Amino acid sequence: MAQSSHQIWEEFLKRYYWDDILELANHYPEKRSLFVQFSDLERFDMELARELIERPETVLNHANEALKAVNLPANIEFENTHIRIIKLPEQHRIQIRELRSANINKFIAVSGLIRKATEVRPKVINAAFRCQRCEHVSMVPQGEGKFVEPYECENEVCGRKGPFKLIHEESEFIDAQKLRIQESPDDLRGGEQPQTLDVDVDDDLAGVVAPGDRVVISGILRSFQRSTQQGKSTFFDLVLDGISIEIEDKEFEDIEISKEEVEEILALGKDSQVYEKVIRSIAPSIYGYEEVKEAMALQLFSGLPKSLPDGARIRGDVHILLVGDPGVAKSQLLRYGVRLAPRGIYTSGKSSTSAGLTATAVKDEFGEGRWTLEAGALVLADMGLACVDELDKMEADDRSSMHEAMEQQTISIAKAGIMATLKSRCALLGAANPKFGRFDRYEPIAKQINMPPALLSRFDLIFILTDEPTVKRDTAIAEHILKAHYAGELSVRRDNIINSGITQDEIAKAMEVIQPVIHADMLRKYIAYTKRNIFPIIQDDARKKLIDFYLGLRKQGEDPNSPVPVTARQLEALIRLAEASARVRLSQTVTTEDTDRVIRIVMASLKQVMTDPETGRLDADIINVGMGKSQRDRIKVLKEIIRELQEEYKSAVPLEEIISKAEESGIKKDTVEDNITKLKTVGEIIEVTNGRFRVV
Ligand code: ADP
Ligand code: MG
Repeated sequence: MAQSSHQIWEEFLKRYYWDDILELANHYPEKRSLFVQFSDLERFDMELARELIERPETVLNHANEALKAVNLPANIEFENTHIRIIKLPEQHRIQIRELRSANINKFIAVSGLIRKATEVRPKVINAAFRCQRCEHVSMVPQGEGKFVEPYECENEVCGRKGPFKLIHEESEFIDAQKLRIQESPDDLRGGEQPQTLDVDVDDDLAGVVAPGDRVVISGILRSFQRSTQQGKSTFFDLVLDGISIEIEDKEFEDIEISKEEVEEILALGKDSQVYEKVIRSIAPSIYGYEEVKEAMALQLFSGLPKSLPDGARIRGDVHILLVGDPGVAKSQLLRYGVRLAPRGIYTSGKSSTSAGLTATAVKDEFGEGRWTLEAGALVLADMGLACVDELDKMEADDRSSMHEAMEQQTISIAKAGIMATLKSRCALLGAANPKFGRFDRYEPIAKQINMPPALLSRFDLIFILTDEPTVKRDTAIAEHILKAHYAGELSVRRDNIINSGITQDEIAKAMEVIQPVIHADMLRKYIAYTKRNIFPIIQDDARKKLIDFYLGLRKQGEDPNSPVPVTARQLEALIRLAEASARVRLSQTVTTEDTDRVIRIVMASLKQVMTDPETGRLDADIINVGMGKSQRDRIKVLKEIIRELQEEYKSAVPLEEIISKAEESGIKKDTVEDNITKLKTVGEIIEVTNGRFRVV
C-alpha cells in the first residue's frame, strides 16, 4: 500500500521540522536545502521510510512539493527548495563494487573519496523555444543527458516542425557538477583496484566538495544505456543522482573501539615494553632495520598539528624517506606502512594515474567539454599515510607542487577556469633508489638521488639502506627469510592436502618469528585511540634537552670555517617526533624519555645523510643546498685558481693548467673536471674557446 502523499509529508515536516523550515525561510533564497534525517522519517512512519527507499523519485516529489506548499508566516514563498535526506542507515549504504541491477532506481548511499570533480557550470532544465514561423514560445523540460527539442510547434494554428530557436533569457538554468567517487582505501582488501561511480549534483549541492574529500553521498541510482559505434548497447552504465552529500572530516571516524579494547589499550600503554612491542609489530617478516621501524612507528602516531593565532598551521605529520640499494626491502616496508595506517595509500612516483602524486586539471574527462579537477595520491591520502615508492621518478609537475604539499599540506591548482586548493594533510613515507643503481657512501646524498635538495629538506628523517654483504647480517636475514617461507609452506600444504599431518600448532609455532606482537587491527585501534585522546605537551626539562641538543649542533657552525650543521627544520622534526613518542605510551606530557629517544633517532638519520664524506662533520647544506661546505670551499678555491691564472695569462685559461694548479692544492683531476662543468652550467665561468675558461 502506497503511503506517501503530499499530505503525509506536510504533516511530517510540520511535526518534525518546523523550526528548521523557519530557519530556512530566514535564509532563503541563499539557502535552499532542508536536511531531513532518515531516522526521523522512520520514527514518524516506518512504511513511508521504506517507500522512500523503494520509490525515491515519487516520494521525493511529494516531499519537495509539500515543502514548497507550506504556509510561511513571513511574506516568503519557497520555489526552488530541496528536501535532502541524510544519514541513511548502514543497510542502505552500498559499496560501489557491490552495486547491482536490483539497486537501480532505488535510494542508496555510497561512501568514498571524491576522485574527480568538474567545474560548476549551468545546465538548462527548462528550455524555451521560439517557433521561427509563428513566434510561439514553448517550454520543453530537459532531463539528464541529451538535449530535447520540440517535435512540432505546440501552437495548434501553426503545428509546423519548426525551425525553433532556443531563447536563453526565458529558459531556466541550474548549477550542475559531475563528480566521480572512488571506494575508500579502508574498504579495500590488499591491493584491490578501487572502483568508481559517477555522481550528478545540481543547484546548491554543486561546488560543495573538492577532490580528496571523504563523503557519503545519497541519491537515486540511475542507469544509462551505453552507446557503441554500432548503435545502442544492451549494457547500461550507472550514475548516482545525488540528493545529499555529507563530508567526513575526521581521521578515524570509522574505527570503533569497544570497552574491552580500551582496557587492552590502556594496559598496553602502561607496559614498559610498549615501544619494543610496537616496533616488533611493524613488518615482522623483514629482518633488522630497528631504527627505520621505530621511525615508522612514530610516523604512525604522529605529532600534533597546530593552528597558530596568526592563521599559520604547523604540520604534525612526520615525513620519512628511505633511500637505498635495490632489493633491501624498501618496497616491502612501504607496503606494511599502508597496512597499518588508517587511510593508507600505496603508489609509485612513476604514477599509475594522470593525476600523479598531487593533482591535475584536465579537459573533457566526462566527455562534455568541461574542466575536471582530479586528485592524486597525496590528496586521496588526506588524513592518512601516503606511501610513495620510487619517489625519485615522479613527474616534473608533481615535483613543483610537492614542496607545498609536504609543508603546508595543501595543493594549489590554477589552470584554465579552475582555481582550487586541495588538502593533503598526510604523512609521506617515500622510497627512492640511487641514480646510479647503488649507493655510494662517499658521495653526498643529494648527488645520488634524483631529487632537488629543497625537497629532501622537507623530510623529517631520511634513512639510507645499503646492501653491504656482511656474513653475520646476511646469515641472519637468510635464516629469517627461510623461516618466513617455511611457515608459509606449511600453511599452504595444510590448506591444500587433506591429511597433510600438519597441525595448527606446528604452523603457529613456525609463524611465531614473523607474527606481529600486536595484531594489525589492534595496533590501528591503539593509534586511533591515541590520536583521539592523547595531546602531549612538552615539559620544561624535555624542552631544555631539545634546545640544548639543537644549540649544540648549531654551535659547531659558529666558526665561519665550519659548515652549518642543522637548520630549524630539524628542530621542528624533533618536536613532532617527541610528541609522537609520548603518544606511544599514552602520555599527555613529553618527557626527557621521549626527547632522548628522538634525539637518538634523529642523530642516526643525520649521521647517515648529513655527514660530509670528506670531513666527517655534519653539514646541513648537503641536504638543503645539495653540496657540503667542503665542496663549496673547493669551488671557491677553484675559482680563485682560475682568476689568478687569468691574470697571469691575460686571457682564458686552458683546462690542463687549471688541473695541474688545482692538484697542487690537493684537488683531484676528476673533481676539477666535475666542478668546472658545474660552474659552467651555473654561468660562473665561461668556456671562451674549446678547453679554455675564464671567470665571469
Ligand atoms: P626494494 O624495494 O628495496 O628494491 P623489495 O622490497 O622489493 O626491495 O625487497 C626484495 C625482496 O627481498 C623482498 O621479497 C624482501 O622481502 C626481501 N628482503 C630484503 N631484505 C630483507 C630483510 N632484511 N628481511 C627480510 N626480507 C628481506
Ligand atoms: Mg622497490
